[in-house]
Amino acid sequence: MQPHTASQSTTTGWNFDNSYARLPQPFYSIQNPTPVKTPGMAIFNRAFAQSIGLDTDTLAGPEGALFFGGNQLPPGAAPIAQAYAGHQFGHFTMLGDGRAILLGEHLAPDGTRFDIQLKGSGQTPFSRRGDGRAALGPMLREYIISEAMAALGIPTTRSLAVVTTGEPVFRDTPLPGAILTRVASSHIRVGTFEFAANFSKPEELRALADYTLARHYPEARQADNPYLELLRSVMTRQASLVAKWQCVGFIHGVMNTDNMALSGETIDYGPCAFMDHYDPATVFSSIDRQGRYAYSNQPPIAQWNLARFAEALLPLLDPDPETAIHLAQEAISEFPALFQGYWLSGMRAKLGLFNEEAEDITLIQDLLTLMHQQQADFTRTFRRLLSSGTLAQEPFFADAAFTDWHAQWQARLNRQPESFHESEAFMRAHNPSVIPRNYRVEEALEAAVTQGNLKVMEMLLEALKDPYADIPAHEEYRLPPPPSEYPYQTFCGT
Ligand code: AMP
Ligand code: MG
Repeated sequence: MQPHTASQSTTTGWNFDNSYARLPQPFYSIQNPTPVKTPGMAIFNRAFAQSIGLDTDTLAGPEGALFFGGNQLPPGAAPIAQAYAGHQFGHFTMLGDGRAILLGEHLAPDGTRFDIQLKGSGQTPFSRRGDGRAALGPMLREYIISEAMAALGIPTTRSLAVVTTGEPVFRDTPLPGAILTRVASSHIRVGTFEFAANFSKPEELRALADYTLARHYPEARQADNPYLELLRSVMTRQASLVAKWQCVGFIHGVMNTDNMALSGETIDYGPCAFMDHYDPATVFSSIDRQGRYAYSNQPPIAQWNLARFAEALLPLLDPDPETAIHLAQEAISEFPALFQGYWLSGMRAKLGLFNEEAEDITLIQDLLTLMHQQQADFTRTFRRLLSSGTLAQEPFFADAAFTDWHAQWQARLNRQPESFHESEAFMRAHNPSVIPRNYRVEEALEAAVTQGNLKVMEMLLEALKDPYADIPAHEEYRLPPPPSEYPYQTFCGT
């Protein structure tokens, strides 16, 4: 069965272009989504849909479910499965969209280009032994976490809708099937370049690089060496992104090179989670036995992935291979300092520090060390720091070691011209009050998957919309998990 194309006259707001499908042949395979039995809307992101010029009234209804289930194609869509390779846990493999279809690019009224991708929409030539499908729990999980990240101000792909398919997927047990509509600046990954470098012709690699420059880094084309500038620009966005993750305690879980987007958006929410008590060795993914993608490893892994990107770019960096390697190494070696700069400014903001002092790093590290020793909750500790002098409700704040640190921090605040009031506002804007805590996410998924009850998730999403506010009604979402919830693990959940 094939999907049918909606007539151009339907008022849906879709405005498709298909620039990726104009790239050379090896980069994709023409592929329609496989229609599903009974598409039913589980959740539709009205606010986001509206912000990109879609007709929310039409799409929230049965017609929307047809689009988001892959049974009906938006006018102008030219569906493809993208080819890519990647290093998974350090090992190089050919991958590609095995269960995702790029419908094309929707142009918002302001001209912004968004990939519209259906995840879980059937088999493709890249499916290997997979069924091309996805289960409801993991798709809702991606919806919740990606929307929480967006509300936190962290670059991320967005979630437009999740529909149930009316078909089971078979994992360890039969589970309800679902499709997520993912919206992204693009789905060009480090792995897309690894694919080009290993499996396509030199001029095709160049076409991909030119396309990426035009789509994401148009200003880099003016540089003396635009491809070196592309590498540096991607590095800058990744350094900034991973620093933001570290500052909110987000652990991606599967930082394989195919899960690193060149746009600088967080992509592919699998076994990811926010840390509760602070421990730099925290790993959530049940498949990450070596702790490769642990919290404290995220910056060095980002650098490792960028080195794979640089390797793929080598033929474009310079005609002389030795010079190309030298340029690549020089650029990649700058990553730690680049990251450190973003991280320090993020952590200074968390502590209400406007100016810079050389000892700030020690002040920050000392606090983190204390938090680690005492298993203090990462989010709550930072959020409550401002009131820590007067209200010692948290056992952590009553500790003598903390009192010493607090005195030093107060002295540091007094050495800057800004008032305490200004610091407080600054801290409020950089220390979230509500994050998608694992136990709340799991509770919402459990209700949705086993009882078909979406209310729990909708309430959680409501609390996550305004993460820097202190809304009394959301107090319960600020609470750390009860001790029984440890240790927490997320499963790959495909
Ligand atoms: P991920 O772990 O989601 O980043 O996926 C890694 C690779 O496995 C990608 O090439 C996916 O398209 C593929 N994949 C994951 N699940 C499935 C599935 N159920 N059917 C086909 N391919 C899949
Ligand atoms: Mg992936």
